[in-house]
Amino acid sequence: MRFQSLGSQYSFRDSVSMLVARGSKHDVAALRTYLSDTYKGEAFVYANARSAIRACLSLFVANDDSIAINSYTCYVVQEAVRRSGAKPSYIDIDPNTAHFSGEALSQAVAKNPQIKAVIIQNTYGIPCDISEIESVARRHDLIIIEDLAHAVGLTYADGRMAGTVGDFVVLSSGRDKLLDTVNGGVLVVRTKKFQDQLTQPTRRIAGSWRSRWYPLLTWLIRATFPVGIGKILLSTALATGLIKRTASGDIDATFTLNPWQARRLLAGLKNLPHTTAHRQKIDAIYRATLRPTFSPASTPIRSPYIVPDRAAVLAALRDHMYFFDDTWFDTPIGPARLYAKTHFPETENPQAVQLAQTVINLPTHRAITPKDAKKIARIVAEACGE
Ligand SMILES: *Cc1c(COP(=O)(O)O)cnc(C)c1O
Repeated sequence: MRFQSLGSQYSFRDSVSMLVARGSKHDVAALRTYLSDTYKGEAFVYANARSAIRACLSLFVANDDSIAINSYTCYVVQEAVRRSGAKPSYIDIDPNTAHFSGEALSQAVAKNPQIKAVIIQNTYGIPCDISEIESVARRHDLIIIEDLAHAVGLTYADGRMAGTVGDFVVLSSGRDKLLDTVNGGVLVVRTKKFQDQLTQPTRRIAGSWRSRWYPLLTWLIRATFPVGIGKILLSTALATGLIKRTASGDIDATFTLNPWQARRLLAGLKNLPHTTAHRQKIDAIYRATLRPTFSPASTPIRSPYIVPDRAAVLAALRDHMYFFDDTWFDTPIGPARLYAKTHFPETENPQAVQLAQTVINLPTHRAITPKDAKKIARIVAEACGE
């Protein structure tokens, strides 16, 4: 029995230890120093990445500005843009990389001269065409924000590390991300011009006990899922607010990351080469059996495949106790339950619409063994009639 998400990145021991994990202001300081050294800038930590994006945009957004973002992304990205007072300007993706190209960015800027900054995200950990995007951005004086929610540790085709190109770097340590501290976000200000303008927030978010309990609660939900209890527990936890859906969390740059999470995040950063190697190994097993849909990912946070009939494939996986229904993203701006609020311009972004209808995600996290991966790949291949 394996799950796509629902706390799969925490072992039982981990889950218990997070209930009582401790940290101090020294852990926050050590994390900020590590991030400053790695990404060569001033680092700030927040309760989530959406707040880090908001803090970043607050430094330069003026009335009528637009921010270029992927037409295939997380709801909170466009929400952070809107909250800053700017408009999201969606750029459709290239079907080979699930990211927009430099050429598409260039066309978008020609059509909308109000675009002031561009957020790049290296979807699924697949490197985007950074050199083209960078040259278009520099030519038009656009600020570059590297959103590494899928891409911490990624290497671009030209050999540079993700997070060494942009004016700003954003990291997420939200649940199911490469670095998982249940919630958490980082902003690194790399450009001199914007340094010394932000201060590290110190407010603690109310209800942070939820983050401590999330791992153990989800462990219990996963463990009791096959007998039907897990499902009831999950809906009860959601209804009573024991668990909050992540995309519904606040965007507020006045809240800091809790010290125990800062400590865990620093440990996760140091352990990243190890966890990424596991993901790459699992991804390679999938690729050996299934016809790859995309260019290889450098940090395969999940392995995406286009399938003819998603519902049938997910059902076949469920029959073997693989619960992979949680898909990034099954609407161009995910999750589906918030999609209608975005008023997304579908006709202008056909590639994102198409991908959202046909993609499945195969997990690469620590709970997936090579044996699982071989079995999963066989199930998917068979369900696709390959
Ligand atoms: C999850 C995600 C974010 C936001 O991260 P939070 O820490 O949950 O706010 C930003 N960008 C992308 C592409 C994401 O998938």
